[in-house]
Formats: sequence, C-alpha cells, structure tokens
Amino acid sequence: MDRQFRMLVGGELVDGASSFDVVNPATGEAFAQCPKADAALIDRAVAAAKAAFPAWAAKTIEERAALIGQISDALEARAGEFASLLTSEQGKPLDQAMYEVMGSVFTLRAFAEMRIDPKTLRDANGNTITEHRTPLGVVAAITPWNFPIILVMNKMGPALITGNTMVIKPAPTTPLTTLLLGEICAQILPAGVVNVVCDQNDLGALLTSHKDVAKVAFTGSTATGKKVMASAAEGVKRVTLELGGNDAAIVLDDVDARQVARKVYGGAMANAGQICVAIKRAYVPASMYEDFCDELATLAKAAVVDDGAKQGTTVGPIQNRMQFEKVKALLEDAKARGTVIAGGEAFDRPGYFMPPTIVRDLDDDAPLVREEQFGPVLPVLKYTEIDDVIARANDSDMGLGGTVWGRDLDRATAVAKRIDTGTVWVNQYLAIDANIPFRGSKQSGLGGELGEAGLHEYTQPHIINAVAYEEA
Ligand code: NAD
Repeated sequence: MDRQFRMLVGGELVDGASSFDVVNPATGEAFAQCPKADAALIDRAVAAAKAAFPAWAAKTIEERAALIGQISDALEARAGEFASLLTSEQGKPLDQAMYEVMGSVFTLRAFAEMRIDPKTLRDANGNTITEHRTPLGVVAAITPWNFPIILVMNKMGPALITGNTMVIKPAPTTPLTTLLLGEICAQILPAGVVNVVCDQNDLGALLTSHKDVAKVAFTGSTATGKKVMASAAEGVKRVTLELGGNDAAIVLDDVDARQVARKVYGGAMANAGQICVAIKRAYVPASMYEDFCDELATLAKAAVVDDGAKQGTTVGPIQNRMQFEKVKALLEDAKARGTVIAGGEAFDRPGYFMPPTIVRDLDDDAPLVREEQFGPVLPVLKYTEIDDVIARANDSDMGLGGTVWGRDLDRATAVAKRIDTGTVWVNQYLAIDANIPFRGSKQSGLGGELGEAGLHEYTQPHIINAVAYEEA
C-alpha cells in the first residue's frame, strides 16, 4: 500500500521519529507502515490537548455536538474506505468491518445527542443545591486490536461532548483506521482537541502516568488494565477499565437444542471469537448435549475461513501472531483433555488462520474453560442441576457478560439475575447499544462505558450549595 499514514498532534498530521510494519493477518505480510511516536511526541500531544481544553470546554454543548456530528458524517461518507482498511489491518470479513464502521457512525451520533443538565438536589428554605458536571481535562484513550474503530468511538463520543480533549493511542497491530479518523478530526476540530499517537506497546505508560492527563479510558486485557490502574494511582487519575471476559452461555432445558446452538455459534465465532463479550464457554443440559454439540460441529465445519477481503468469507484470521500462538497452545492442551469435534488444526498457509473449533467433554478446570481464549475455539460443557451450573458460570475472576437461553422468559431472567457479570443477555447476544451502560464486574473492569453512566465517567460532579447573603 503506497498510502502514507500520519499521526495527529496539535492539529497537524505528523510523521513519527520512526515507523514500523503493519501486517495483514490474512497474509502474514506487512502492507503498510505506521509512524511511531517517541516520548517527546507524547509530551507534545498531551500539551496540545491541554492547551486546547479551555476553549473546547467553553463551547456550548450544541457547538460541540455539531462538530461531533460532522465527524460521524465524514466517517459515514468514507465508510467503504474505512471498512476495507479495517479488514486489511484487523482481518475481519468485509461485511463485519462495515458493520463496525457503521456502528461507529451511530455511536458517535448517539453521543452527539446526549446532554447532561444540572440537577437540583435541594431548593428549600432559601438553600439551593445544584449538581453540575464539568469536564475533566485531557483524556488518554487506549484501545485494543479487536474492534479498533468502534472502541475509539465509545471514548471519543462521551469525552468530546462533555468538553474534554483527547490523546488517542490505538493498538500497534491495528493503528491505521484510527490514523484515518485522525485525518478527519484534523479537518473538523480545533487544533489539539483530538490527538492520535502510535507506539509499539511501549509508550502507553507514559500517557497513563503523565501529570497532565486527567483520565485514562482503557480497553484491553486484564493484565494491562492492572498496570494502567497502578500507574494512574500516582496522580489519582480517573480510570475507566474495560477488560477481559470469559462469558458463559447457559442453555436451559426448555429450548430447541439445534436452534439455540445456531445462536450460540454466532455469539462464539463472530470476529473469529475475538470479542470481549463473545461466548467463551457454553453450558448445555445433559439431555440435549449430543444434539447441541452435533449442531455446533455442523456449523463450524460449514464456515468459510479465508481472507476477510474475499467475498463469502465468514471467519477471518486471528488478528496477530501472538494471539494465534496463544489460541493454538490452549487448543493443544484441550486436545489432551477433551474431544475436538470440528476444526482443531491451524491452517498450513500464510496468515493466522484457525478454523472454528468445537471441543466437548472438558472439565471446568481446563485452561480453555478457565482462561479467556479470545479466538474461534468453543468449549461445550454438560450440566444437570441449575444451581450447579450457575455456580460454575460464576466461578471466574471475570465478570463481563453472559447469555441465558430459555423459552420461559421469567425463568431465564431469574437465572440471568444470578449471573455475576455486568451484562447478561437473555435469548440474544452482543446487543450493545450506545444508550445502554456497559461495564464489567470483578476483574473485567472498573467504571463503565456507554449510556448516561458512561457519559458521567468523563465529568466531575460539581456541587454548588448556595444560601442568600446574610445581612449583619
Ligand atoms: P492489551 O492489553 O495487550 O492492549 C490494549 C492496549 O493497551 C494497546 O493499545 C496496548 O498498546 C496498550 N498497552 C500495552 N501496555 C500498556 C501499558 N503498560 N500501559 C498502557 N497501555 C498499554 O489488549 P489486546 O490484546 O490489544 O486486546 C484484547 C483484550 O481486550 C482482551 O482481553 C479483550 O477481552 C479485551 N477487550 C475488552 C473489551 C471491553 O469492553 N471490556 C472490549 C474489547 C476488548
């Protein structure tokens, strides 16, 4: 690809001190160069965001909303270009890439429409107490490689509408769509309101510990999230952590096994399983275990696993070599403990291809069950007692999402209420909505994104408590 990508700092598109390869996971080969920041450029980006903050915060919310709306319009106008670049850098099939890009457009629009009005807490006996929400300052937004563009929007929407400025740092294996978004921001926003810098997993800590960064909005692994939290401690920075998950699907005994298997398959294999809230373990009643496993295996065998840029591909490659090796290791271990009934071998071809793989007859202590696989490999587990399966689903350090499948909605909802995670979907999966808060329990996160609660995370509550002047 001849196209040059530049970072955005202080309203200018800049080259880095150096550059690095961006690899297409479908070929295993570099297809573009990404500029790389150094410590001095990180400082410049934070300084630019800090300088831009007072004027941006002083704009009316309607003025900010209009500019955010222009960014979403510009993104929509170039959706095809973004989707194709997203497939090249991330690997997902083109239709799923388009879905992510359009989801980004709608997310940004939803935030442009949100408002926070001052709240009257008391107005009695001459005492007026109001709660206002003021922006925090410079927000560092750090994103992972599975949904490189929409996860930026989940942060950019609330940060900008509430009057903050930003430094965005994408993951090093998927930086290009974020850089393209930076080009759009350069044309629309005042200089410094949004800055985009890239690294090779080495400069994030400079941002999270920077004295002029007021808040860190982080999405990524739990291991890195812990480092972010520790590093933010020094300045008592606000942090939002959206971390890993190990979502369980609990299938109840009143459903049609094959029909629900098809849904569970979709929830496990979309984006090649690389979704924080993908179904990562399925619990199925013993009475329907055989049918359920058979149907999953049939679907897995019918998948078209190929370059996401090819029409008809249903499952693309794993995004990067490190993750590919991790999934392969988990699968090798699982082979010794359970039975692989579909897939099971990485493809012997360039790129990081792993077919949808179904593993049955595993114990709950198998690493494939206990750890976050983040790949297209689904363990299917058997249960007989509902209390027992709820305990097994909850026996995890993670608590992001989960699904319950049942014909009797009251019963399914009652089970959902006993699952200790931030979100439980009943008879559906991945129903994420910009207007509905999303957050993890336990080690899946801290704070949340989306909805009014997500908006609040980018503000400081400011209480004004007034009484009339008392004449002496
Ligand atoms: P990762 O933690 O390796 O990297 C995430 C980001 O952190 C990258 O931009 C990386 O460069 C940066 N980073 C690395 N070291 C850092 C440090 N010391 N300080 C600050 N930043 C640093 O995660 P990943 O492998 O890119 O993403 C996959 C993980 O993300 C999975 O665990 C997945 O479940 C999780 N995820 C969670 C959500 C959610 O909403 N909860 C959404 C998507 C992905």
